[in-house]
Amino acid sequence: MNRLRFHRILLKLSGEALMGDGQFGIDPDTVAGLAGEVAAAKAAGHELCLVVGGGNIFRGIAGAAKGFDRSTADYMGMLATVMNALAVQNALEKVGIDTRVQSAIPMASVCEPYVRRRAMRHMEKGRIVIFAAGTGNPYFTTDTAAALRAAEMGCDALFKGTSVDGVYDADPKKVPTAKRYDQLAFSRVLADDLKVMDASAVALCRDNNIPIVVFNIRQPGNLAQVLAGQGTATIVQTEN
Ligand code: UDP
Repeated sequence: MNRLRFHRILLKLSGEALMGDGQFGIDPDTVAGLAGEVAAAKAAGHELCLVVGGGNIFRGIAGAAKGFDRSTADYMGMLATVMNALAVQNALEKVGIDTRVQSAIPMASVCEPYVRRRAMRHMEKGRIVIFAAGTGNPYFTTDTAAALRAAEMGCDALFKGTSVDGVYDADPKKVPTAKRYDQLAFSRVLADDLKVMDASAVALCRDNNIPIVVFNIRQPGNLAQVLAGQGTATIVQTEN
């Protein structure tokens, strides 16, 4: 894992990563910490764009289980990601990083609409683009949005920040003997249904040859370390 290989990355932050130790919502200190992680990666010379989830506020499937129409619930989930994107933007700008939020659901008075060429231009100017509202379509997830935007933006890798340091053969929080993989093939992840990202996101990365790097975003300094090839992570990529 060297720096040149992963010059431009898409960082996927789940809604849960913004909650801190809470059960719900956005914790400003946690978001400030994440901004610091992103700032360190940028200072090390990487180009970053972000996709943020919304699970800390609203998840379509959970809403549908409570009786909402699935599409309506998914639109609510997408709106939740816009709130998270604004929180991340605010924290990044507080540490002096120029950012733009682009939403897949146009919201003219809140942020820019998603326009790929414009997003590219922002990145060329050294800005961090935060993609909100997922793909803009119900029945998708922000993992799929992350894979899609990573492909569109020509990213060298998709970094998935989680609360564990990679992909294990069992849940490491429940099974103490669980083994962590250093590397995995896309085909193995799909065949064994390993919990990396949802299958459509993994397939999109496989088809576009974009490695997925799963790492612990809760550990301070880890993003920059993994980018420098030093931290602990699992890399999912095409078999050689
Ligand atoms: N969502 C959607 N289409 C998308 C992306 C997200 O409908 O392209 C909705 C879906 O309801 C999802 C919610 O937005 O549950 C929040 O996204 P997600 O669950 O992926 O967030 P995360 O788990 O990363 O916090």
